[in-house]
Amino acid sequence: YSHHSAYESLIGNTPCILLPNLSEVVGRQIYVKMESWNPGGTGKDRAAACMIATAEASGLLPDPIKRGTEDFELTLHLHQGSFASADDGDSDMDLICEAMQHSITGGLVVEGTSGSTGIALAALAAVKGHACLVVLPDDQAGEKRVMLEVLGAVVHVVPTAAIANPNHYVNVASRLAARAASLGVQAVFINQFENLANFAVHFETTGPEIWRQCRPDTFVMSAGTGGTIAGVAKHLKENGKCRIVLVDPAGSVLYSKVEHGVAFASQQSERVLLRHRYDSIAEGIGLDRITKNMEQGLPFVDNAITVSDQEAVDMAHFILRHEGLLVGSSTAMNLVGAVRAALQLPSGSARVCTVICDSGQRHVTRFWNREFIHSRGLQWPRDGVGRIPECLQGVM
Ligand code: PMP
Repeated sequence: YSHHSAYESLIGNTPCILLPNLSEVVGRQIYVKMESWNPGGTGKDRAAACMIATAEASGLLPDPIKRGTEDFELTLHLHQGSFASADDGDSDMDLICEAMQHSITGGLVVEGTSGSTGIALAALAAVKGHACLVVLPDDQAGEKRVMLEVLGAVVHVVPTAAIANPNHYVNVASRLAARAASLGVQAVFINQFENLANFAVHFETTGPEIWRQCRPDTFVMSAGTGGTIAGVAKHLKENGKCRIVLVDPAGSVLYSKVEHGVAFASQQSERVLLRHRYDSIAEGIGLDRITKNMEQGLPFVDNAITVSDQEAVDMAHFILRHEGLLVGSSTAMNLVGAVRAALQLPSGSARVCTVICDSGQRHVTRFWNREFIHSRGLQWPRDGVGRIPECLQGVM
């Protein structure tokens, strides 16, 4: 990706550090790649920048504004004029018109996202002069929505639905992009789940960085789109003998795909899904299908581990107390997976690497909220004498 703004120049080259206290407890070295240090707070910055640059290079999006050489004001008014009057009662049209009020280039970035990718896309669209329209499922933390709006994106919240349903947030985004294109807008449906620029950027940047920084024996990661684990896994496998472990929340089909060759979640037969996609409080991870990005990584995944919500909560609190890091739900699951994988290796110098996906600051109303945790029938670790995550019970 290019470095035409401060935002873009801060993407990638994140620190990869040893967790001294967790490593001490486990008796193996546990490293974390700090993807939360990207400017948008997650590794999605890498994917978003690469997907936008690819769309610009192929002409799907207009070129970004060239600062200092163009009259922004004039162009802005030009585009505002043509989208000022929205059709009453046509909500798709209203959304497109509202978003296009903010387009300087005449380009429109559309995506269905559970949050983090939208935040990266919104910031990049702002600096490049494109409009941004984000479709969000209604089961995600409210602070993500607020952040998207602050960044200037138009946000459309839809009820959660299965991917086969035309009203699934990804399908709604696809429909909105097609509608905008039919109106003559240079609109692109980013489609992070199927867009292989996502996988490619992790293969080209995240994977090599991790190899240079800690040369892990095992790499452990959950999958949202699958872009990170697939790209990193391909690079690490090509470099040597690194084991790749996938971490999966309850209700996702990936564990069963890796361990049994069938994409299936037991909740599908028991009909106890709390929500349509998967049955976990983890945000941004778990899949109900095999995406193109995940497909790139499956041949390199050696085994999968499922992590319960309770163990993720316990781990998040443990890591705050032992390392001072406030982490989000997917990171907590990654850390449980890293401990389990580390315990499979000989004690001493064995090295496991996993990813700090985002900060707990993004999760204060759900994962880091005592009432919410109770509402899901889970225990809040600070209520009692202190809970130790199950994976550490034999070793402490
Ligand atoms: N969880 C969070 C919070 C994330 O931001 C990300 C991506 N950086 C992931 C999980 C993993 O995502 P993916 O499989 O789409 O690369």
